Amino acid sequence: MSDIPSQADVVVIGSGVSGLTAALTAAEAGKKVIVFEKLKSLGGTSNFFKGTFAVESRYQKDRYITFGKDEAFRAIVEYSHWRANPRLVRAIVNESGATIDWLEEQGVEFIELTINMPNAPETYHLIKGEGAAVVKTLVTRAQEKSVTIKTGVPVTQIIKSGDRIAGVVVEGDEDDVQVAAKAVVIASGGYINNKEWVKKYTGFNLMQNLLPVGNVEKNGDGIRMAFELGAAEEGIGTVELFRIGPSRQELGAGGRVSIAVIQPDLWINQAGERFCDEGITFFDTSEGNANARHKEGYTYSIWDNGVLKRIAEEGIDKGITPDTLPGQKIDITEDLKVALQSPSDDLCSGDSIEELAGKIGIEPDVLKATLDEYNTCCAKGYDEVFNKSRRYLRPLTGPKYYAAKANTVCLGTMGGIKVSQKLEVIDKQDRVISGLYAVGYDAGGMYGQDYGMHITSGLSSSFAMNSGRIAGRSAAAYIDR
Ligand SMILES: Cc1cc2nc3c(=O)[nH]c(=O)nc-3n(C[C@H](O)[C@H](O)[C@H](O)COP(=O)(O)OP(=O)(O)OC[C@H]3O[C@@H](n4cnc5c(N)ncnc54)[C@H](O)[C@@H]3O)c2cc1C
Repeated sequence: MSDIPSQADVVVIGSGVSGLTAALTAAEAGKKVIVFEKLKSLGGTSNFFKGTFAVESRYQKDRYITFGKDEAFRAIVEYSHWRANPRLVRAIVNESGATIDWLEEQGVEFIELTINMPNAPETYHLIKGEGAAVVKTLVTRAQEKSVTIKTGVPVTQIIKSGDRIAGVVVEGDEDDVQVAAKAVVIASGGYINNKEWVKKYTGFNLMQNLLPVGNVEKNGDGIRMAFELGAAEEGIGTVELFRIGPSRQELGAGGRVSIAVIQPDLWINQAGERFCDEGITFFDTSEGNANARHKEGYTYSIWDNGVLKRIAEEGIDKGITPDTLPGQKIDITEDLKVALQSPSDDLCSGDSIEELAGKIGIEPDVLKATLDEYNTCCAKGYDEVFNKSRRYLRPLTGPKYYAAKANTVCLGTMGGIKVSQKLEVIDKQDRVISGLYAVGYDAGGMYGQDYGMHITSGLSSSFAMNSGRIAGRSAAAYIDR
């Protein structure tokens, strides 16, 4: 592999936004940087995010939004019950506003500052062209700064000499190749595709009760390499959970049916019983956790003609993407018709609730009792079991009923390697491993047991980019020492 440079100041493992922000920041500080990407394509999971968290950005200041660094810091650590590393949280939050300016300087465009859950502070910066545009822009800027980016080249080992990082080993076409480096940034995107690790660290059975989305070959390479060098573990079992209906691809032209699945109407489990306040649909981690309590890995959303009429005439409560925002009137009748041409237990309909129950393997009497109890709550305006807001207590009366499966899915694992607020990797004796940094999905300490996005939407990509920038700066300063 003669075209692989034999040395660099900084080697970055992975070309998601955590790796690219680290690479570009180190290059801006005058360092010679190589990014190795294991896949043939660039950007990993980072191609998919739509919006990112920041406080005290110019967008927030323009709108006089008072939810700033102090408020966000407190919200994040409190949500974690102080399990998160508070200095790391502070560093990320403090960096976030400046990162929006920096991204704009690189050429990233923002559509607007918004929220993606009710009553939340405006911290969600929607990106034009989504994460794919950020990846493309950062790659272009990095290459302009002479960063070498190699795709289809996995890093397999990090080399240490004495107590310092000395480089990496990459998989070449024929042989392994050693690349000398003074600092290494681990940005390999976690381990969600590694079945054994998912079982070991989270207890889920991958592809059975947890479906990974948007991740390919995330085997925990970077975390493994850090552990081989004695790195300590932090936050390794934290996962980004969601509850998601049949996907657009599975439903073909009927893709918009997913809109009905996520509305806060009637949700039931395989026993035919309600299991939560469906109003938690607005809070992804909460709905993901509630769904994940079911060993089958799925629950059902039930709706009727009344729901179809309501969302077409009054508008939806929850949107899916920036094209389908709350309040928008969406008629999904045609999509539903198309999707139901090939009914399955993922999506089916019945002329009575009992008939529907039979199609999804639930005792008809049980589902009928659940519906009656739900409709009684709606009539009373009070949900005495789960205390759902009366705003969402709307009876289902048919005549036709629909059911769609909603799976427990994971967008990524959210930790593994213990880091400092400078994103330095920490070993089991609590010492810094000189020259080694971990960022994005590989680094632990930003969250407690759950993804804390409750009032801080877009924190995941924000952590990736801000941890990347801080690590790039830390690596450059370390080399200059
Ligand atoms: C569908 C979807 C939607 C999302 N939407 C949002 C959103 O709206 N807002 C938000 O904040 N977050 C969102 N996220 C989460 C967000 O995308 C992630 O937080 C972010 O992309 C993580 O970036 P990363 O750099 O850590 O990992 P990645 O982007 O996955 O990058 C890691 C890279 O490392 C590579 N790699 C792995 N092993 C090796 C190796 N041995 N050698 C070299 N390279 C290697 C991988 O191939 C990959 O390209 C979403 C995620 C998904 C899946």
